[in-house]
Amino acid sequence: MSADEQTIETRVLAADPAPDGTGKAILRLAAEFAEREIAPLVADYDREEQIPRDLLERMGRLGFFGGVVPEELGGMGLDYVTFVQLIEEISKTCQIIGTFVSMPSGLVGASIETYGTPEQQARWLRPLAQGEIFGAAGVTEPRSGSDVAGMTTTYKRHGDDFVLSGAKAWISNLDVASFFVTFASMDRSLGRSGITAFIIPRDTPGLGLHPYKDKLGFRPICTGEVVLDDVRLGPDAVLGEEGGGWDVAMTAVERGRLGVAARGVGMAQACLEDTIAYARERVAFGRSIAEFQIVQSKICDMSVGATTARLLVAECARTLESGARARQLTSMAKMYASDVAQRSAADAMQVFGAAGVSPDHRVGRMYRDAKVLQIVEGSNDVHRALIGEIELGLRSSGERRAVA
Ligand SMILES: Cc1cc2nc3c(=O)[nH]c(=O)nc-3n(C[C@H](O)[C@H](O)[C@H](O)COP(=O)(O)OP(=O)(O)OC[C@H]3O[C@@H](n4cnc5c(N)ncnc54)[C@H](O)[C@@H]3O)c2cc1C
Repeated sequence: MSADEQTIETRVLAADPAPDGTGKAILRLAAEFAEREIAPLVADYDREEQIPRDLLERMGRLGFFGGVVPEELGGMGLDYVTFVQLIEEISKTCQIIGTFVSMPSGLVGASIETYGTPEQQARWLRPLAQGEIFGAAGVTEPRSGSDVAGMTTTYKRHGDDFVLSGAKAWISNLDVASFFVTFASMDRSLGRSGITAFIIPRDTPGLGLHPYKDKLGFRPICTGEVVLDDVRLGPDAVLGEEGGGWDVAMTAVERGRLGVAARGVGMAQACLEDTIAYARERVAFGRSIAEFQIVQSKICDMSVGATTARLLVAECARTLESGARARQLTSMAKMYASDVAQRSAADAMQVFGAAGVSPDHRVGRMYRDAKVLQIVEGSNDVHRALIGEIELGLRSSGERRAVA
């Protein structure tokens, strides 16, 4: 740990007047770290499409990636409520770093925590939760995104080994991932029960990584195609039971969606705060634009949106904390919070006028990212359909359609 990191950490812990556990200290640390260490860099690394690796490594050393992963597995063992507050705090400044904070507890780590063998947990989850390595989750395919069970990536048995062929598309963390949690079908006619989850180390022969460039949003995270060209894996690469991949994916997406929702809340809050500050200082027709009711109305909508999304996310967090599943709730929270973030960013852009288009303000970045947030981890249209079907009794709340 550098002297600078020590200073931040020491001051945050010392400033805690009534020490109330790791949870609250990590929130103070996050607020200060985001303001001092992330905020000055984010516009540049968004443009350059590359988060500085040393920034992530420093965050790893400070414990930011430990999340809800239990301490005995290398994590921080946070409660879910503190976990979503941590993601919100970081995401106000950079929601992509919010992704890194959530991944070890979400899409990438949750499946290994729940289904991994002790060896898999020691090899992949522990260093992941401690920020020593990064991982990726490969669910989406070029021809099947929302329809996960429609995957065409297949595997064949060769003795004890498994040989995978196919491709995954739009996979994040392509540049930094040491391993990929991914899925393949033994026999597509078996549908969900034919799917198996695998952990593929990055250096496995036959694994091709092809990043996409110049994305509209989510620019700092490296996203691209993963080609599986007769990738041969031993039995130690199987995550969970052979044929049990569907359940592995479903467990992981639930926690993943909670993280997306918390990022949406952080973005909505940032849009609200920036819009208030700008409206107070900008003058038009000889008056502060804050005096115009139509500007006040937008600020009202942003405030109500951020507050209600936060309450829904907190309810999800409390449900998961109680040990219950939160299938419908996490769907609702992901959809609602990302919709609020997108509307808030659009309203913020309107209030900023031309200034919002300039790189001097972050609302433009929020606007691009919030649109993408409505698509990832299950398109909001798919969540909307799923929630409606549950309410109409056309689908049980215990059954979920797999959406990546
Ligand atoms: C920046 C970025 C990062 C990503 N990172 C990852 C990652 O790390 N891992 C990963 O696996 N995936 C990742 N994805 C992929 C993402 O999860 C998918 O894009 C998403 O699940 C939607 O799939 P699709 O794009 O194939 O849309 P499609 O499935 O082609 O759907 C297109 C649209 O059709 C409509 N639609 C489809 N089905 C229905 C339905 N049943 N009901 C109603 N409407 C429907 C919706 O409007 C939907 O948006 C990432 C995507 C992006 C953009």
